[in-house]
Amino acid sequence: MDRPICHAKGTIQTVLGTVSAMEIGPFLIHEHLIAELTPKGVFPSDAPRVAITLENIWDIRYQWCGHYGNQILDDPELMAAEMKILKKDGGNCLVEQTTRGLKPNPIGLAKISRQSNVSIVAGTGFYTVEFVGKQLSELTKNEISNLLYTDLLHGMDETDIRAGFIGEMGLSTPAHPHEIKALMAAAHTQSETGVGMCIHPPREHDAPLRIMALIKENGGLTTKTAIAHLERTFPSVDDYLALAQTGCFLELDFFGLESGFYPFATVDLPNDAGRLAIIRVLIDHGHLEQILVSQDICHLSRLRRYGGEGYGHIFRNIIPMMRARGFGQKEIDAILTENPRRFLTIA
Ligand SMILES: [Zn+2]
Repeated sequence: MDRPICHAKGTIQTVLGTVSAMEIGPFLIHEHLIAELTPKGVFPSDAPRVAITLENIWDIRYQWCGHYGNQILDDPELMAAEMKILKKDGGNCLVEQTTRGLKPNPIGLAKISRQSNVSIVAGTGFYTVEFVGKQLSELTKNEISNLLYTDLLHGMDETDIRAGFIGEMGLSTPAHPHEIKALMAAAHTQSETGVGMCIHPPREHDAPLRIMALIKENGGLTTKTAIAHLERTFPSVDDYLALAQTGCFLELDFFGLESGFYPFATVDLPNDAGRLAIIRVLIDHGHLEQILVSQDICHLSRLRRYGGEGYGHIFRNIIPMMRARGFGQKEIDAILTENPRRFLTIA
C-alpha cells in the first residue's frame, strides 16, 4: 500500500512539533512521564495509593511493583517540576515510551514540555496483552499498522500531537500471538515512515534475536530498531555481542536501579558500574554506535520529589562515573547524543 508521507526527513518529531535533529540533545532514550504500570490482579480494586515516607521509601524502591500507587504517574504538574530539575542536571530531551495499555497522555506531555522547556518525543504502539487486553485481539494487522501510521503522521488520540517513533512495543514472556501480530504491523509502519522503533522484549535470552529476525522479515529497519531492557534479558555479555551483529541499537536502560534484585523474575540485575563494564566490552568490540542508555523511570519512588535519583541521574552521576573509568568525551557524546539522535531522526 502506498501512502503519502508528509514527515520531514532529517527532523525529530517532538510533542510540540518537528525540530532540526541537531537542535536537541543529549537524550534520555527510554523514560515514562505519564503512565500506569500497575500489575493486573495484584491489588484489591479499592486499595488506597501508598503514601511514600522516609520509613517506607527503601522497601518501595526495592519492591517497586508491590505498593499500589507507586506505578501510577498521572500528574503533569509534578512531572514538569521533575523536568525542570532534569534541565538543571544537564538534560534537555526525553523520549517517552508509554504506549497503549499504559494510559498514554499526549496532551499531558505537551503541557509538561511547555512548562519545563524540555523537549519530549512521544512513542506510539501497544504494550503487552496483560495491559492492552481485548483491544489488541480485536484488531487486524492492517488496522494496527493504520493506527500507528495515524499517530505518527496526523496525531495521537484525536489531537494534532504526533508521535515521533514507535515504542515501546510490548512482548510478554513468552510472547503472545497478538503481540507478535502487533510487532509485524509495527515493522510495516516503520518501513513506510522511516521512524525509530523500540521493543520491550520477552525475558528469554534468545528472544531479542528472534524478534530482530521477525522485524527484518516484515520489512522493518533493523538499524533504526532498539531492543530495550537488556540488563534483565541477557545473563552474559556474549548475548549482547550476538545481538549487536544484527545492527540494532542495544539499550541498557535501568541506570539508577542499583539493586541486584528484580521483582518480576529470578534475574540478577547489574548495578550502574556493571552496566558500564558491559558497555566497555561492547565498545571494545566496535559497537559504540549501537549503544543507548536510559533509566526507564516509571515509579514515583524514583522521583526527586519522593527521595529518588530523578531523571537527571545519568547526567549528575553516571557521566562522572564514566570519566573516572576512562570513557572519553567522544564515547560519552556518542552514547548520550549522537546515537539517540540517529535513532530519532526520521529517515
Ligand atoms: Zn519496557
